[in-house]
Amino acid sequence: MSVAAELIAARLAGCAACQKKLSGLVMRGDKLVLAALAASLPHNPPQELREGTKVMYPALRTRSGFMIFGLIHAMPRRHRADVLADAVEYWVSKIPSAEAGTSDRAAGHGMSIELPAPAGPEAFPDGVVEIRRMGSTS
Ligand SMILES: [Zn+2]
Repeated sequence: MSVAAELIAARLAGCAACQKKLSGLVMRGDKLVLAALAASLPHNPPQELREGTKVMYPALRTRSGFMIFGLIHAMPRRHRADVLADAVEYWVSKIPSAEAGTSDRAAGHGMSIELPAPAGPEAFPDGVVEIRRMGSTS
């Protein structure tokens, strides 16, 4: 999950180059990471969702890891990209400093976000993905 965490940090830092690189790594990597990110979205859509994420939402509400993982596998790449973008946006919105000024954004690259590795597709409990701001001074 560390690549996903780095991607969220890069988004917070507003670094387009890192976001592009890291998005590519997540998209080409283990689909379990994407499934866990999808499973981390709340029961009620937190924001305006992209098409691929909308398609997934009924499955997300079941909290069935097998169903979520299966859908991630079966969906077209552009829908997986939608899920990734929406999950990153959601987590960025959960981190208060994301809305802060430029000095805080610049610090984003130095921020460490911990996303525990998913145990497997059997079950994704609520909040399987945790993001903690480490070493925060605020
Ligand atoms: Zn960067």
